[in-house]
Amino acid sequence: MSDEDQAPPSRLTPDDRAQREYIDSETEVELIEAVRAGTPENPVQPVKMTMDDTFNFRCHKAVKCWNECCHGADITLTPNCILRLSKHLGQRPAEFLLEYTVPAEQEKTGLPVAKLKMGGGDGKGPCAFMSDDGCSVYEDRPATCRYYPMGLASVKPKGAEVKEDFFFLVKEPHCCGHQESQSQSVSEFRHAQGLEEYEDVNRGWMDILMKMASWMSLGGPWGQEPTKQVKQMFFMASTDVDALRRFVFGSKFLDTYNVDPEAHEALKTDDVLLLKLGFDWMKNVMFREPTLSMQEHVVQAAVAKVRNDLGAM
Ligand code: SF4
Ligand code: SF4
Repeated sequence: MSDEDQAPPSRLTPDDRAQREYIDSETEVELIEAVRAGTPENPVQPVKMTMDDTFNFRCHKAVKCWNECCHGADITLTPNCILRLSKHLGQRPAEFLLEYTVPAEQEKTGLPVAKLKMGGGDGKGPCAFMSDDGCSVYEDRPATCRYYPMGLASVKPKGAEVKEDFFFLVKEPHCCGHQESQSQSVSEFRHAQGLEEYEDVNRGWMDILMKMASWMSLGGPWGQEPTKQVKQMFFMASTDVDALRRFVFGSKFLDTYNVDPEAHEALKTDDVLLLKLGFDWMKNVMFREPTLSMQEHVVQAAVAKVRNDLGAM
């Protein structure tokens, strides 16, 4: 990465700030983030469900469709999915990405993401982790697999400041689990699937996707599509915690941004903390959010450069 990539973003003018606030409040965004597919053969039941709504579903080895849903699945991996799956397999994230994922572009934002590779030449074959006994990485399976047969959508209506999550059922014809008598609320299902922890770690990443989807109405942040380098930085920060750590400790990052010195040691080993710092950094770089502040000497140097460029010095 060049010094240019690490350069702090320019400071916001009042007009910039007004534009950002306008985008934050006036755009309407919906991101469907945890659903395996949405095709005519694979319908999403268009019913908005809240945490207290209940549904019938149970999956167990005796169902005649056992493992069918683990073929040709469209699974976008969140940062936490990659962290947990690579640890489960005893791999570094870079090795995991190479062996088990394919790069893709997130539909509504154009941002790069990693999807779980499916077998078969056409990607309709079995997932590499599928076994006769079910999912061989069950304790660390991806968020989308945990959600199934539900989907999660994040919506930020016009005029609202924060997004709202809602849930819906995906009723695929082959899935017999819906015919089971076990009833549970959305909240009970989420808890049983361990989804709260996933969402906590991924929150910053989801915020970035939501913000990018908002800005797409102008063609990208501040009316411009993110550069290839910015997209690469986003991909690194959301998929490869080792590369992110090398960047933070091997570049001018800690000299540029105010990061609590007490956190430096923790960032050397705590992957989740580092991921959260990475998301704050990307929000600052992409949307000029005040999620990270620059050190005073960097601000002074930037001001001096602007004055110099204007011939004021
Ligand atoms: S990760 Fe596990 S649950 Fe998800 S598709 Fe693969 S085998 Fe199925
Ligand atoms: S298709 Fe449904 S019931 Fe069958 S294995 Fe998958 S989740 Fe379970």
